[in-house]
Amino acid sequence: MSTFKALLLDMDGVLFHGDRALPGADEFLQAISHLPYCFITNNPIRTPAMLVEHFVRLGLPRVDESRFVTSGQATGEWLARQQPDFGFYAVGAAGLHQTLSQYGNYDPETADFVVVGEGEGLDFDTLTIGINLILKQGARLVCTNPDHNVDASIDGMHRVLPGGGALVAPFAVATGQTPVFIGKPHPLLYEMAMQRLGVAAPDCVMVGDRPDTDIAGAAALKMATALVRTGRFGRGEKLPSGLEPDWDCESLTALLDRWRDACPESFGTKTKAG
Ligand SMILES: [Mg+2]
Repeated sequence: MSTFKALLLDMDGVLFHGDRALPGADEFLQAISHLPYCFITNNPIRTPAMLVEHFVRLGLPRVDESRFVTSGQATGEWLARQQPDFGFYAVGAAGLHQTLSQYGNYDPETADFVVVGEGEGLDFDTLTIGINLILKQGARLVCTNPDHNVDASIDGMHRVLPGGGALVAPFAVATGQTPVFIGKPHPLLYEMAMQRLGVAAPDCVMVGDRPDTDIAGAAALKMATALVRTGRFGRGEKLPSGLEPDWDCESLTALLDRWRDACPESFGTKTKAG
């Protein structure tokens, strides 16, 4: 591919680790600012408004809320398509509850959907309420994202935290119900971003750090893909077979250098020869 019209960007492991922006993230965002782009994230913990402030805290450019598409939003959108004016019971961070409340009504008594997302919230009581809604009220089990675990940075230390796929497992085991998963690699987040940008999949490149979610989902939609080895995979680590990206770079800075050479039309830059 020598040109692309729009970008979809993962954030954790690409632009930042927890409360630390990754080197080159600021320059990268400035370099793509002339192109349509959206951030798509499997992380439902922060709302778009919280993400705007998170960027500013990290010293990244202030961007508009409309640039963010979270798995919480995609879940709300999916639920509203199944059943307008739905009732939900959510287990997860405050940001997930806030986001879902924009699409439906919190209802721990007769919810139509039990939604499990990342962050705090799962305990004996919430599991009990959730499985009773599923087994006795016929609620459907939905999970914001299928990641088994996710990387985090806590007080500067790398930690592995349970992802949506792990947190939803007790509900699935207790009820025998297979959850519906919403986030990457499933297509909804990508589709919402493309719709906002008014672009088609073959015009897009997806930049992420995880082959199993970011890259797999984009490739299935026939997007170009770029992996940066600043998150789940480090320099020189072997990728799972069948999930090789079109660009495989150690950092955003290296990716930008390659694009400036390989995709001059997308960047308005000159080739080395020119
Ligand atoms: Mg990531």
